[in-house]
Amino acid sequence: MLHKVIILGSGPAGYTAAIYAGRANLRPLLIDGGVGRGQELPGAGGQLMITTEVENYPGFAEGIQGPELMMNMRKQALRFNIELVEDLATKVDLSQRPFKVWVGDTVYEGKTLIIATGAVAKWLGLPEEKPVWEGGLGGAGISACATCDGFFFRGKEVAVVGGGDTAMEEAIYLTNHATKVTVIHRRDTLRASKIMQQRAFSNPKIEFIWDSVVEHVHDPALKRVTGLTLRNVKTGERRELPVSGLFVAIGHKPNTDLFVGQLELDENGYIRTHHDVRTSVYGVFAAGDVQDHEYRQAVTAAGSGCMAAIQAERLLEQEGDAMPQTSPDW
Ligand code: NAP
Repeated sequence: MLHKVIILGSGPAGYTAAIYAGRANLRPLLIDGGVGRGQELPGAGGQLMITTEVENYPGFAEGIQGPELMMNMRKQALRFNIELVEDLATKVDLSQRPFKVWVGDTVYEGKTLIIATGAVAKWLGLPEEKPVWEGGLGGAGISACATCDGFFFRGKEVAVVGGGDTAMEEAIYLTNHATKVTVIHRRDTLRASKIMQQRAFSNPKIEFIWDSVVEHVHDPALKRVTGLTLRNVKTGERRELPVSGLFVAIGHKPNTDLFVGQLELDENGYIRTHHDVRTSVYGVFAAGDVQDHEYRQAVTAAGSGCMAAIQAERLLEQEGDAMPQTSPDW
């Protein structure tokens, strides 16, 4: 069956696109990402499913928990005539319209496609970050999600790597559980916003180690984290930091593996867009963190999901029953 709109992903961008396309009677097909695999692939609901308090999404005067916000968006989207596939897209063919999207062996065809597949956390590249069943400590003391794993470090000391807003947020959250949180940053100034810096600096449980990187995480043989070897990048000096957990908070990678060679991507792998949400292929739109490395906020993702749905609706309306492969207006 040929769909007018297929939406990939169900973070704020995907659900908002679904709400708008649904209310425009386009009966969009929403492929929601399915069951997640934690931080590696958050699945339906996206990254906010592994967040706690969201204080900056307008409309919630007292703030709202990330998972609750996403469940609300899902319920809201499902009120409108939407076809839902609770799974992960595995392949796409954007070489011609209709576009093809595979979920395993099932292929769906769409006149337009809205990509809202988001981004995931980046890792340091240490062998110890591998999952515990591969001989590492991933999931056994090394994490990229304080909300998911902070609870396990009640009464213990932990470290956070990174100097951005995420690192500050993780560090502050972890002070609810841990007795001490050491932030390890590779420079001597933070990238985080001033307000987050102030909150972290004024928290008595947070300490900073500057100009330093993590060289080793101990001890995979014991299947738990016992400490870190740090190296000062200016002096070359090494030191040991005894901690029970390591939280990596160094940014994100866009989920664009499916589109390599089919859409124009930037040097960091984000989908390049013009006219806000148009990709290099006529009829394919991108919204949210998959195309936004600058703002990366739930509200900006929702806004771009709205733009993508409105632009798709206009494109379909202009075309009527035709389905051209290109347009001079794109
Ligand atoms: P980010 O701003 O890109 O910061 C990443 C941090 O990790 C930087 O300090 C960077 O160091 C460090 N880093 C990167 N690669 C590293 C490596 N291999 N080893 C060691 N350190 C490394 O990412 P983010 O903190 O995830 O934030 C992303 C965006 O989301 C930002 O726009 C941020 O404002 C926003 N955000 C906002 C909130 C909020 O408002 N509550 C919360 C979370 C995120 P350098 O500084 O040296 O580059």
